Amino acid sequence: MNFLELRTFILHSMRMSHIYQPVMIKRLLNGNGRASKREIAAAILSYDDSQIEYYEKITTNMVGPVLKRNGVVDKVGSQYVLPNFETYSPQEVSELVSICEEKLDTYIKKRGEKIWTHRRRSEGYIPGTVRYEVLKRASYRCELCGISADEKALEVDHIEPRSHGGADAIENFQALCYSCNAMKRDRDGTDFRGIRALYDDRETGCIFCETTRRTIRFENSLCLAFDDNYPVVPGHLLVIPKRHISDYFGLRSAERNCMHSLIEQARDELMRLDPKIKGFNIGFNNGTTAGQTVMHCHAHIMPRRQGDIDDPVGGIRNIIPGKGNYYS
Ligand code: AMP
Ligand code: ZN
Repeated sequence: MNFLELRTFILHSMRMSHIYQPVMIKRLLNGNGRASKREIAAAILSYDDSQIEYYEKITTNMVGPVLKRNGVVDKVGSQYVLPNFETYSPQEVSELVSICEEKLDTYIKKRGEKIWTHRRRSEGYIPGTVRYEVLKRASYRCELCGISADEKALEVDHIEPRSHGGADAIENFQALCYSCNAMKRDRDGTDFRGIRALYDDRETGCIFCETTRRTIRFENSLCLAFDDNYPVVPGHLLVIPKRHISDYFGLRSAERNCMHSLIEQARDELMRLDPKIKGFNIGFNNGTTAGQTVMHCHAHIMPRRQGDIDDPVGGIRNIIPGKGNYYS
């Protein structure tokens, strides 16, 4: 592109969904027409107030005072200055810069990624592969507000904080944009008291709370799957949260994640055992009005085979007899 074309692009054609395009072009212009991925990322970062504020606090509260105490810097108004800087020759300046760079290199090599772990908001280290799985599961969108990772940086968050007993397990992670994550932290504390105890809630006399270990087909930290005693179709399974709650609407996010992963596991296993299975009906009855008979939340997983009934049209629509086929 020549100058006028680029000018026209910036002025009239550039469709901005974020600050990224002008920042990148500006960085390229300031770099004699070239910039590495890292340089561009750093340029974007320089506009990210949430990050800048964080390091402003570090400067004011930590590094500034330490260097001041040692007589290295002075504070003049809102600026930091190196006293006597004007007496340094350019060679001396570049020698000091090189020494700083060497110090940084050695320190970073020695400590590796660990020096940034304090920036991971949910305390506790989340390995890269788990992060990737969580972001993939969330389709690279914030699981609270739905904004995409292209528009706002996503962070992997402990749904139930570790400090309140939340597990370091994939079902207890969610992808949040930094705004939702910050809002969530402001609310933390009351929501999460006694998480571990909460998940241990059982009700005596509830047949699902008392499911014997022998009948369990699949299990993860918060959910179980077992055969329905009166199967509607062969292979009919129930997936329940271990905690006694009456229906779907009482599930916490971590339980929903657990439930979903058992449903997927059940699907894979049922299809592996019976290649005739080609489809599934999955459903929750919520409340006696909707037909629920066991008041402990459960998902019905009903595998379907070609020809198992004459006319499967409508599937779960058939809970109201005759309403399956909306054409007729
Ligand atoms: P719902 O009507 O949705 O509450 O479903 C209750 C389900 O639990 C039914 O599909 C029953 O067949 C099943 N069921 C009832 N008692 C037991 C039991 N002791 N073990 C396993 N499944 C059961
Ligand atoms: Zn129960």
